[in-house]
Amino acid sequence: MCCLLFFFFSIKCSFGNEASCRKREDYLEWPEYFMAVAFLSAQRSKDPSSQVGACIVNSENKIVGIGYNGMPNGCSDDVLPWTRTAAHRLDTKYPYVCHAELNAIMNKNSADVKGCSMYVALFPCNECAKLIIQAGIKEIIFMSDKYHDTTEMTAARRMFDLAGIVYREFKPKCNKIIIDFDSINSRPSQKIL
Ligand SMILES: [Zn+2]
Repeated sequence: MCCLLFFFFSIKCSFGNEASCRKREDYLEWPEYFMAVAFLSAQRSKDPSSQVGACIVNSENKIVGIGYNGMPNGCSDDVLPWTRTAAHRLDTKYPYVCHAELNAIMNKNSADVKGCSMYVALFPCNECAKLIIQAGIKEIIFMSDKYHDTTEMTAARRMFDLAGIVYREFKPKCNKIIIDFDSINSRPSQKIL
């Protein structure tokens, strides 16, 4: 994806007229880019019912952590259960799975994530809210709040409000971003004519 974007940014003027020399106006803006990174990361998830991604960004618009929901490192996702319902909770995924927010924080490539923003597909649960607060993240941008009325999300909001964490729903300017690997061959050449 990054390669694709960098390709777009680096298109050279190859037609000689003034219009084609102007920079693109329909480029992907930062918020859409970060949320798209979160959604792309979610595609790595092996959870059959829920794929969630998170992307942590610092004040310089640099990505400092990406994560998606999955089983803990070293715990085979072929052994642990993925089901949502079972006679015993131990036989469901819930006691084991690491949420995207947790993984994004733990995967950070900076010293810390203090003052950062987190782009996440789903509004964080209470357990992730605790991690987010303790990590020093100051802003949550979420795509969906479909579990708004659950105990977990209500507790999360309560803690966010007390801790002064800002959270807001993301309103994308486009509903779909298509990544077309073939576009590198079909678009104007990068080579200088
Ligand atoms: Zn969570």
